[in-house]
Amino acid sequence: MREHDIIIIGGGLAGSRAAVEIKRTNPNLDVAIVAKTHPIRSHSVAAQGGIAAVLKNVDPEDSWESHAFDTVKGSDYLADQDAVEILTKEAPNVIIDLEHMGVLFSRLEDGRIAQRAFGGHAHKRTCYAADKTGHAILHELVNNLRRYGVEIYDEWYVMQLIQEEGSAKGIVMYRIEDGAIEIVRAKAIMLATGGYGRVFNTTSNDYASTGDGLAMAAAAGIPLEDMEFVQFHPTGLYPVGVLISEAVRGEGAYLRNANGDRFMENYAPNQMELAPRDITSRAINLEIRAGRGVNSDGSAGGPFVHLDLRHMGKEKIMSRVPFCWEEAHRLVGVDAVHEPMPVRPTAHYSMGGIPVNTDGRVRLSADSLTEGLFAAGECACVSVHGGNRLGSNSLLECVVYGRRVGAAIARYVENRKLPQLDAAPYFNAATQRVKDLFDRTSGIRIAQLRQEFQDCMTEYCGVFRTEATMQEGLAKIQQLKAKYDRIYLDDKGDCWNTELIEAIELQSLMVVGEMILASAINRKESRGAHSREDYPQRDDANFLKHTLAYYSAAGIDVNWMPVVIDRFEPKERKY
Ligand SMILES: Cc1cc2nc3c(=O)[nH]c(=O)nc-3n(C[C@H](O)[C@H](O)[C@H](O)COP(=O)(O)OP(=O)(O)OC[C@H]3O[C@@H](n4cnc5c(N)ncnc54)[C@H](O)[C@@H]3O)c2cc1C
Repeated sequence: MREHDIIIIGGGLAGSRAAVEIKRTNPNLDVAIVAKTHPIRSHSVAAQGGIAAVLKNVDPEDSWESHAFDTVKGSDYLADQDAVEILTKEAPNVIIDLEHMGVLFSRLEDGRIAQRAFGGHAHKRTCYAADKTGHAILHELVNNLRRYGVEIYDEWYVMQLIQEEGSAKGIVMYRIEDGAIEIVRAKAIMLATGGYGRVFNTTSNDYASTGDGLAMAAAAGIPLEDMEFVQFHPTGLYPVGVLISEAVRGEGAYLRNANGDRFMENYAPNQMELAPRDITSRAINLEIRAGRGVNSDGSAGGPFVHLDLRHMGKEKIMSRVPFCWEEAHRLVGVDAVHEPMPVRPTAHYSMGGIPVNTDGRVRLSADSLTEGLFAAGECACVSVHGGNRLGSNSLLECVVYGRRVGAAIARYVENRKLPQLDAAPYFNAATQRVKDLFDRTSGIRIAQLRQEFQDCMTEYCGVFRTEATMQEGLAKIQQLKAKYDRIYLDDKGDCWNTELIEAIELQSLMVVGEMILASAINRKESRGAHSREDYPQRDDANFLKHTLAYYSAAGIDVNWMPVVIDRFEPKERKY
């Protein structure tokens, strides 16, 4: 059995930042990152628009209190305000630290870090590296992993979190290169496995965003918090769904319907295109429903709206958002200097996740913690985003909480021994799981079942929801789960068997999808991204609380947890 002081699952921004901090705190600790992709291919690398922090480089009137207020209001008052305070107060410091590590931020004329407008933020506070911000940050972090001597297991897939009697002891991992299965024990384990966009059929996320960490935690008896809050980004490029960054609107682009009107006037007259994402996505869907969407030939009644950059001019487009121009040009043949881009909402971000306290310790219930288990980044719910995340706050969460959780882990493992662990049963179970998949020679193909599942989630639990459609969706998921036992693989080899990985990922997606549906059915109100047509109002009297959903094969149990409100009293949300 292998062993390390600390294992971090995931090499994106959250996992990498935590690893660096552990090594900075105590260089003698033996830290390993395990990632199913190479760390540099984590979804963080695709982040475009930027990272928020009150540096006051462009807007001297800004303050951390204003950033905190915007975040809480954006969250529809479901964010925990103590966690938001940490996020916004520590933000300037983590940005300067990243810059010292070598991150190449875009600059103002005078050499200071540039900052742009972003949806739901009252001031220009989003730092950026053109529209490739994630790329700039992740590359420096990964360079630093090497410098600090963090061991990296890249292209190893973690199949299981080993949790015994409320305590995390190790992991089961599978080497994609040759099919080797290994058990690793550690004094502390951190989940930094990112999001689950692939639960839906149209998403901005990469193929690896399959919610594995969430499913592993749920299978180990850990609850998942606020899973009903799924962010649909307003501007996914039609029809492919890839992201056109909010930075494009931050730099001045307009949303127009088939009549050429800037329809946001009717939904958020003050903030217009820079309203928060939940409001903007609903507005686009309502325009499309009302027949004011656009067709490919430009006529009305179609499935998308227009994102119009033309008035910005070629120079600004090419210097501030060159990657978005390139995506539209390459993927749908639109030259945004001369034509509007076709866009509609796309599944983008998970506000919910593995419940943690502000040191990243994973909760077992509203008032108890697990031992040895930590989480940060998109897979975690601390909760700084509540019911709706503001753009550029996620990268910030990854680095603020990555750093904080790294320091907490370094303290936690001091004077702790490696846990006692009998590896054999876990090794045998994992081997059997692979064998079962290989043994089947006929049945259903993975791609077919995954498509049915993604279509089901998109149809029954998308931007707008009702009791009847979600119950129907949940019943359908049960049928699809039964079908999972009949999937079979064409490739039964050990070398780079991506079909096997997809089969295991599909199981993660199905657990996560069921948790989203069950949590969404329980929340009988509309708040943030959770929009119920049968309960259109926010209901603070009954639902100003976090959902905690527990998974079991027999069904899902839902409990609640209080929200920390210590600064801003809930008010009606208007933009
Ligand atoms: C296209 C796009 C643009 C975005 N733009 C912005 C932006 O401008 N600003 C902003 O604030 N946010 C943005 N976001 C959101 C933000 O990028 C993510 O929320 C954030 O980067 C997530 O980082 P992470 O470290 O939590 O996870 P990720 O970067 O997703 O990394 C997850 C890691 O976990 C590993 N992993 C997962 N499962 C397993 C397993 N079973 N075994 C082993 N390893 C595993 C993966 O290999 C990977 O290394 C964007 C998101 C997308 C999709």
